[in-house]
Amino acid sequence: MSSHQPAPLPIANPTSSYWMHQPHPVLENFCSSEELPSHVETVIIGSGISGALIAHDLISRCPNVADKRVVMLEARSVASGATGRNGGHIKPDCYKNFASFQERHGSETAKTLCRYELENMKASAQFIIDEGLDKAVDLVKTNAVDLFLDEKAWEDAKAALKLQLEAGGDLSDITVHDKAQSEEKYRFNDVLGAVSYPACSLWPYKLAVGLIEKAMSNGLQLFTNTPALAVSLAANGKWQIETSKGHFVGKIVPVKGNVVAIEPSLDFASRPLDHTCSLQWGSDFDYMIQRPTDGNPLIFGGCDLAHPRKLTGPIGDADDSTTTPEIVDALLQFPVKYMRGWGNEASARISWSGIMGFTADELPFVGELPGRTGQFVAAGYTGHGMARVFLAIKALMQLAHNEAIDPRVPRVYFDIERRLKQKDDEWETMLEEAYSGQKESRSVPLERL
Ligand SMILES: Cc1cc2nc3c(=O)[nH]c(=O)nc-3n(C[C@H](O)[C@H](O)[C@H](O)COP(=O)(O)OP(=O)(O)OC[C@H]3O[C@@H](n4cnc5c(N)ncnc54)[C@H](O)[C@@H]3O)c2cc1C
Repeated sequence: MSSHQPAPLPIANPTSSYWMHQPHPVLENFCSSEELPSHVETVIIGSGISGALIAHDLISRCPNVADKRVVMLEARSVASGATGRNGGHIKPDCYKNFASFQERHGSETAKTLCRYELENMKASAQFIIDEGLDKAVDLVKTNAVDLFLDEKAWEDAKAALKLQLEAGGDLSDITVHDKAQSEEKYRFNDVLGAVSYPACSLWPYKLAVGLIEKAMSNGLQLFTNTPALAVSLAANGKWQIETSKGHFVGKIVPVKGNVVAIEPSLDFASRPLDHTCSLQWGSDFDYMIQRPTDGNPLIFGGCDLAHPRKLTGPIGDADDSTTTPEIVDALLQFPVKYMRGWGNEASARISWSGIMGFTADELPFVGELPGRTGQFVAAGYTGHGMARVFLAIKALMQLAHNEAIDPRVPRVYFDIERRLKQKDDEWETMLEEAYSGQKESRSVPLERL
C-alpha cells in the first residue's frame, strides 16, 4: 500500500502480542448491549490509550450517570491496536530532535516540544498511581538510557544537547555518560557514550483496559468488534457514524513495527536491567525494556533496517497479522552481540507486529477537525504515543470544553488546518526525508550484526 492510499480498517486476524496474552476476562470481546444505541452524546472511535483517556475524562466530568451517553466503538478486540502491541515504555524524547525542531519551528517551540515529553511522562506516572493502577500495570519508574553505537549519532546527540542548552532549555533531568561509564553501568558492548533521563515501563494494554473498565462502571458503553465505517452529517445536523474514510489520507501513514519478547539469559534473569534502553544507530533507534515480573523477558522492538526493503519497507504497511522474519532475526541476534555477558543464544517467547500512525512533521494531530464542529481527533503520534498521549488528551478535553489549555502541551499539535493544507507532494517529501534518509547512518552498525 502506498502512503497516499487510505489506511484500511484494522485487519481481522492480527498477531498476538506479549501484552495481550493476559486478556481482560470480560472486556476482550464485549458489547454493552445487543443493539447499538441510536442516539448518544459522544462516540469515541478506538479503545487504545487515546480512547481510554478520553472516556475516563468524559465520564469523570459528568456526575449524573443517566447523562453519560458515551459510546466507544472498537473495530477488533479491546485495545488490540498499537496500545496492545508496543514496547511497554514511556520514554520521553527530550533532546535528540532539538535541532530539527528548532530549524522547523524556532527555539521556543523546540524547547516546549522536548520538555513536553518529560512533563507528560511524570504526569502519566502520577495519574496511574492516583488511579490506583500502578500495581495492575506493573509501573516501574526508572531511567531510560540512549546507548550510542554510531559515531555520527553520538556527535549529533551531543550537538543537540549543546544547542538546547544555548537556547536556554532545561536539561536538569538529563545526564551524559562517557564510553567506559556507559558500557560498565549499562552492561552493553561497543557503546560510544550514553544519555540517560527519567522514564517508565508498564503494561500498556492493562492501562487502557483498566481505564475503560473504570469508565464502564460509571456509564461508558463499549462495543468491540464494531468498526465505525463512516462519519457523516445527518439531515438533523447531528453527526452520523457509518464509515471511516477522509481527512487524513496521506497525512497519517501506517508504519509497521516488529517486537519480540526474548527469554533472558541466566545472567540477565538473575540480575535484570534496572533501566530501559534505546539503541541509537543514527537518526533511527531500537527500544528495549526488561519486564520486572513474569520471568523477566526483554521486550525488544525496532531493527527496521533489516527489512528486505530497508527503512522504507515498513512505511504504508498496515498488516499486523504477520511479523517480518528478517527483523525478528535481527532483534534476536542483538543481545548475543551487544549485551555484556548475555551468552551465545537468544530465544523468542513470542514475536508480534503492530501499526503506528506516522506524520511527515513527526508530530501528532490533536484537536477539532477543520469544518467539522464537534469532531475531534488525536492521532499520528509517530510511534511515540505513550510518551505524548496523556497531557495531549487532557488538553484535547480542555479544548472541547472551552477551558484554558495546559501550556505545557505544544500548540503545534493543534495546528491541524495549516498542516493538513500542506501540499501532498511537500508532505510526501518531508515523510521520505524523515523516515528513509536514515539509511546511511544505520547501515554501518547493523552490518556488524
Ligand atoms: C510496535 C510498536 C512499538 C511502539 N513503541 C512505542 C514506544 O516505545 N514508545 C511510545 O511512546 N509509543 C510506542 N508506540 C506507539 C504507541 O503504542 C501508540 O502511539 C499509541 O498506543 C497510540 O494509541 P491510540 O489509542 O491513539 O491508538 P491505538 O492503540 O492504535 O488505538 C486505536 C484503536 O482504534 C481501533 N480502530 C481503528 N479504526 C477503527 C474504526 N474505524 N472503528 C473502530 N475502531 C477502530 C483500532 O483497532 C485500535 O484498537 C509503538 C507502537 C507500536 C505498534
